[in-house]
Amino acid sequence: MQSIDNFDFAGKKVFVRVDFNVPLDEKFNITDDTRIRGALPTLKKVLADGGALIIASHMGRPTKNPDEKFSLNHIRKYVGEKLGVDLKFAPDCAHASEAAAALKPGEALLLENLRFYAEETGKPRLADGVTDAEKKAAKAAVKESQKAFTKTLASYADVYVNDAFGTAHRAHASTALIADYFDADSKMFGFLMNKEVIAINNVMKDIQRPFTAIMGGSKVSSKIEIIKNLLEKVDNLIIGGGMTYTFIKALGGKIGTSICEDDKLDLALELIKEAKEKGVNLLLADDIRTAADFDANAEIVVYDVDKIPDERMGLDIGLKTETKFADVIKASKTILWNGPVGVFEFDRFAGGSKAVGLAIAEATKKGAFSLVGGGDSVACVNKFGLADKVSYVSTGGGALLEAIEGKTLPGIAAIEA
Ligand code: AMP
Repeated sequence: MQSIDNFDFAGKKVFVRVDFNVPLDEKFNITDDTRIRGALPTLKKVLADGGALIIASHMGRPTKNPDEKFSLNHIRKYVGEKLGVDLKFAPDCAHASEAAAALKPGEALLLENLRFYAEETGKPRLADGVTDAEKKAAKAAVKESQKAFTKTLASYADVYVNDAFGTAHRAHASTALIADYFDADSKMFGFLMNKEVIAINNVMKDIQRPFTAIMGGSKVSSKIEIIKNLLEKVDNLIIGGGMTYTFIKALGGKIGTSICEDDKLDLALELIKEAKEKGVNLLLADDIRTAADFDANAEIVVYDVDKIPDERMGLDIGLKTETKFADVIKASKTILWNGPVGVFEFDRFAGGSKAVGLAIAEATKKGAFSLVGGGDSVACVNKFGLADKVSYVSTGGGALLEAIEGKTLPGIAAIEA
């Protein structure tokens, strides 16, 4: 497989798929540029080598072509400044052959939002009330025209680089299908994607033991596939957050008004049984910080997790549990954290998640590999200033979750193939 590290882009036209799906305010100012900063090392290397850049991304969920609200022109100036070039703009990503051909070494062109074309995702835009037969025909039509769209994008460049981990779980034209038009020596991951792939391998394949996963968040239902896959791999599985109470109720405990999925009680018992059969140490909370209401200023009273009074709800783990979880984490060599163990958005109920974060930081300092990712756990490490004290914070929410569910990500497979 070609590696970006020792590739020389001099004289090449390089199509780089990035994830510039950044949040904008009502005046189209970027409110969080993390994704742009993440792609800069790859983009800068191409320019520094003397390559010409064709930068491609999606933004938001446009429903027509063009869809001004989602135009990448809003971020063109900012990206150009970060790259130190006068960034050119192609207002139609499927008709940019001339602009791409005119690029000289060291120049860069930003294509308009790829998803202005339904062919990017391959999903037709359907009017309300269409029949099933019409839906089927529309789907087939988009799939057919997707081939020409993909071929056009590929025709702009000599080399294809995928640095868009955030969309690696999608088999879209620019994230996966396009790779077929480049031979193995002319397609590769960007630096960001490389780091993500290595981090995933560290928790899915090349595992140092003991391996501890901390699963938090609100619902078991959204994490079933991940928990099942992790039971095949981990030594310790810590269950925290809102999921706790579905497990505790299933075991016969009293959970008061805590969040619970009553239709998942059997599943919780099944997962506990499965953990036992596989020799996985499944850890649940012992004590819980409870509140009378879901309120940032609620008064805290600590109870045993299975003895929560009828009118109270559990919003964070208690001190005893913090210590129990931290001890296991600190003794681990591989750590995966997905989801807060309490309502960390409320400072009063952030202590448990902070304790987990600090324990991960300590283990990391001692040489463990730690991966934090998937939505709110990233906000969590940022809130506690721990992002640079863990081994890796993933930039891809859905993509990371699918990877730890054990799924093959099309964006990765297309390059590795
Ligand atoms: P998820 O998106 O499933 O990872 O869930 C993250 C959310 O779970 C965060 O917004 C937390 O506030 C929430 N959460 C964590 N613990 C609890 C709890 N005990 N009760 C209710 N929500 C919780």
